[in-house]
Amino acid sequence: MSQTHCAVQGCKTSIYNKQIGVYFFPCPVSHEMRDKWLHALRNKCAVLDWTKSRICSKHFENKYFDSQRKLKDIAIPTLFPIGHKGPKYDNKDKIDKGLNKLTQAELVNDIKNNLLKLKEPINFDKMVSEDLKCRIDAPIGVQQWLLIKKQNHLNARLLELVAQNRRHVDILKKNMEESRSSKKNTGHNIETYKYIVKCLQEKLVNLEEQIEILTAVESR
Ligand SMILES: [Zn+2]
Repeated sequence: MSQTHCAVQGCKTSIYNKQIGVYFFPCPVSHEMRDKWLHALRNKCAVLDWTKSRICSKHFENKYFDSQRKLKDIAIPTLFPIGHKGPKYDNKDKIDKGLNKLTQAELVNDIKNNLLKLKEPINFDKMVSEDLKCRIDAPIGVQQWLLIKKQNHLNARLLELVAQNRRHVDILKKNMEESRSSKKNTGHNIETYKYIVKCLQEKLVNLEEQIEILTAVESR
């Protein structure tokens, strides 16, 4: 993070090159305003440090300045370099844009609520074979329901892997603390670490594969 350059990605303003009338502003202090800034700056900053990052005045609409060009307490950065893409997502169309605006928690809640509203198609069981193929005359709703079920299943597996990783990290931490307090059994401890690290690496590969599958399904 930098105190000399604007934190917004794609913005070139720094204390060395800023034009007359462009100012730098620190981040807000209150939790309420920080939440709003986080929402507004998601995908817009590579790093955002509440105490060190600075945002230049180019990102604030006129309504957020008082008559002395001082930034009002309620100001939120809303103006960003045109064509600049977030680190990970494209703003291709309105649906992508809408999705980008949601936080992860909002997205999860939205999916959960909408899934609850959906109903399993009539005769879903009979329309799908044991090897998970839809009958040729199955309506599109059956195919989509099957896809949703597969994605749910994949999500559940991913969550289980994440939980397993967390458990392994906990074991790793505990072992490290133990070996710090007693210098004995170092050889045994190193073997344990090696094993756990190997497990973690395998799970990571597994997670990456599954995320790839989910991404491929979404992009169709
Ligand atoms: Zn800027």
